[in-house]
Amino acid sequence: MHRLAIRADLLDFTGAPAWGSTDLSGVRWRPDHWLLIEGERIAGALPGAQPPGEDWRLDDQRGRLLMPGFIDTHVHCPQLDVIASHGTGLLDWLETYTFPAERRFADPTVAAEGAARFLDALLAHGTTAAVVFPTVHAVSADTLFAAAAQRGMRLITGKVLMDRHAPDGLRDAPHDQGAEAERACEALIQRWHGQGRNAYAVTVRFAVTSTPQQLAMAGALLARHAGLYMQTHVAENRDEVRWVAELFPQARSYLDVYDQAGLLNERAVLAHGIWLDAQDRARLRDRGAQIAFCPSSNLFLGSGLFEWPAAIAAGHKVSLATDVGGGTSLSMLRTAAEAYKVVALQGSQVGSPLSAWTALHAATLGAAQGLGLSHEMGHLGAGALADLVLWDWAVGPVATHRDAVALGQVAGLPAQDLHARVFAWMLLGDERNLRQTYVAGRLSHERGRHGPQFATLL
Ligand SMILES: [Zn+2]
Repeated sequence: MHRLAIRADLLDFTGAPAWGSTDLSGVRWRPDHWLLIEGERIAGALPGAQPPGEDWRLDDQRGRLLMPGFIDTHVHCPQLDVIASHGTGLLDWLETYTFPAERRFADPTVAAEGAARFLDALLAHGTTAAVVFPTVHAVSADTLFAAAAQRGMRLITGKVLMDRHAPDGLRDAPHDQGAEAERACEALIQRWHGQGRNAYAVTVRFAVTSTPQQLAMAGALLARHAGLYMQTHVAENRDEVRWVAELFPQARSYLDVYDQAGLLNERAVLAHGIWLDAQDRARLRDRGAQIAFCPSSNLFLGSGLFEWPAAIAAGHKVSLATDVGGGTSLSMLRTAAEAYKVVALQGSQVGSPLSAWTALHAATLGAAQGLGLSHEMGHLGAGALADLVLWDWAVGPVATHRDAVALGQVAGLPAQDLHARVFAWMLLGDERNLRQTYVAGRLSHERGRHGPQFATLL
């Protein structure tokens, strides 16, 4: 079996850090250690001065940071085409930019190229697992699953369900009571769910674009197949919330529309959750569902400020996500930096500022636990698949100087604690800091080497 040991500073989590805490509770910090990888799994770790024996290939990356790969719990594959589009809020943005781009994915060639480009971009940003929206076209889910299987990545996705309030070419047929869309989902579930690291998510775009009949069909799929995931959007924008209230007058709230359809369970991932009340948050907790907090998207589209501390107080799960193309970067580091600013904007109402520990936990172990996959990923413990990213602590003169300050190498300034150093890395770092990405023990991206030819260079 292929045996590899990488020497670096190892950082991961063993539990959820307390909100606002900058000490090391929940944090596993092993500076200058060898991480041992046997085949596709992590086998353990050794101090830097004690390398493993001769039958290990040694890769000395001393002075760099090795972490579990990031998990992006909400991102749209076809929206790389519309990232950074100017001038609209959610509903106009969908109409003007997103729907025309998504219509192209009916073409199998466009879908296959889009899936490959998207997954390679995730790896180049340090993301090794994702919960992904393709388009309404079954082929867009098929091509994503196939491309993820080729790369060995953990992928959760499913054909988008939309049967109203969407343009021609992007709607499921309503005329047959939704039977066609249901058949398409069933076929994809048979083909991909539980195949390798692929898992199917019943994917309702949002309450506006599904009839009550289609929502009921989605709930029936979840009831019929244990172990499916569910993904959707909820309470992102105030105009959207008002529209949902008009469309579903019998529902107590936007979230309640989904709950009544049987869509909320411990495998449900709902993006945004900005405009929720205390009853909604309690419902999320009771159902075991999670909110994917998408700060760069929420700021870019002017949607609002997610109240992370309120979620913690209510006891429901929160993960971190880019929501490209509403979000403006696939980088989970940039996303974490935006999350910090969203919390900061809420000032003293929320108590402590967001710690680097809470943000990075949510992007690794917290996300893995929320998805029921912490046996597989999200940490550097023995037995997990070796989904890893090797990072430079600093790139460029400003970050390099800032890192030296944290280390106490600048005369007249005291050395800072680990949290201060990691926080500066999180705020100043991005994909340029990334050296290597491993997926299940296989080198899958390396700085300066990317694109379709990369596989042949391994
Ligand atoms: Zn989204």
